Amino acid sequence: MTSPVSADLFARAQQVIPSGVNSPVRAFGSVGGTPPFLTEAAGALLRDADGTEYVDLVGSWGPMILGHANPQVVEAVREAAGRGLSFGAPQPGEVSLAEEVTRRIGPVEQLRLVNSGTEATMSALRVARAATGRDVIVKFAGCYHGHVDALLAEAGSGVATFAMPGSAGVTAATAKDTVVLPYGDREAVSALFAERGGEIAAVITEAAPANMGVVPPREEDGVGFNRFLAETAHAAGALLISDEVLTGFRASREGYYGVDGPTGAEDAWAPDLMTFGKVIGGGLPVGAFGGREDLMALLAPAGPVYQAGTLSGNPLATAAGLATLSGLDEAAYEVLGSASRTLQQMVAEALTTAGVPHVVQTAGTLFSVFFREEPVHSYADAKAQDTEAFTRFFHAMLEGGIYLPPSAFEAWFVSTAHTPEVLDRIAEALPRAARAAA
Ligand code: PLP
Repeated sequence: MTSPVSADLFARAQQVIPSGVNSPVRAFGSVGGTPPFLTEAAGALLRDADGTEYVDLVGSWGPMILGHANPQVVEAVREAAGRGLSFGAPQPGEVSLAEEVTRRIGPVEQLRLVNSGTEATMSALRVARAATGRDVIVKFAGCYHGHVDALLAEAGSGVATFAMPGSAGVTAATAKDTVVLPYGDREAVSALFAERGGEIAAVITEAAPANMGVVPPREEDGVGFNRFLAETAHAAGALLISDEVLTGFRASREGYYGVDGPTGAEDAWAPDLMTFGKVIGGGLPVGAFGGREDLMALLAPAGPVYQAGTLSGNPLATAAGLATLSGLDEAAYEVLGSASRTLQQMVAEALTTAGVPHVVQTAGTLFSVFFREEPVHSYADAKAQDTEAFTRFFHAMLEGGIYLPPSAFEAWFVSTAHTPEVLDRIAEALPRAARAAA
């Protein structure tokens, strides 16, 4: 495929922006080639600067759950913009967005809005450390929580894509307070708590990991991994932070909490703090962290934990988020679920026909495809896939007009705009891509 305009833009970008991109995975570093520079999007379709059209399966990495340029969302933003772009003062949209999130997500009694998922997890850690008076944070290999210093060790997403162990520039003192364990390894969690329980402020986990590909938490003896983590942490006076930046309002109407969370009033194993982003901003920069009222009461100005933001609770961002959440009714999740299942079947059929080893894994309406036969339960499993087969598949799909995440370690994102006609276009591209992967 020739893309002279994108190639020229990429060359110019590399002169003035490191690697030509503002977030690493966009550079196509692991799959090679020139990333298309996108100029327009509507529904499930993208158009690049060369005029080539693609079916989008990235959805800006999650926020575009109603499709691009959804008319209600665009109108809400347009209307908000007409009334002023930023006040740096309280505004009604913040209240409505916080009310909507706390209504849907039981454990979130109070919520603070920030500008990204990274800020949300960073702030949640600070609250957890202040609440417990402890320093150590436990995270899991392959879980990505944004580019917070303390959380970059063995993270998924771009860190996985580029096989980076963590990041240069993170001090030894910071890394020392982060313990990384294999995802799903209950023995490792129990052993760590037995040895250092009194030092641990919090365990942070993706509610369902989706940044090493989708790796749903597993039950053992009827107890899910998230419940096990909550009970283990609480027994030691530590907190559980459930990161739903990616799964929130996507895996189900109540996020992954709606798929795998305590029901009813007995919330004994509910997470203490939760983080959100992506969907609740509808495509504008929003993150949020929230949880138990007594923990959130620690925040300034009433409490001793400082956290702030010039643009936090921005009126355009809250308008986009509210319009997106109001479009996400039960019917929308049925459409999403159906599009997701149909696509999973189509991909599995094409890869099976071409004899390509693969496994499709799901968490609610989220899914990803691993290029290996055996199920993936950990980051080590995820890394043991045929990334070269993925790369061939990726490029053949792109040639066929389908824009996939440019990494074997990412979820595929559908939207309510992925209608049967759109899925037909993907079906047309699949057989050739599957043969390329073989
Ligand atoms: N947490 C999870 C689970 C994520 O998937 C991401 C981003 O992909 C983040 C945190 C960081 O969010 P942001 O990119 O908005 O900083």
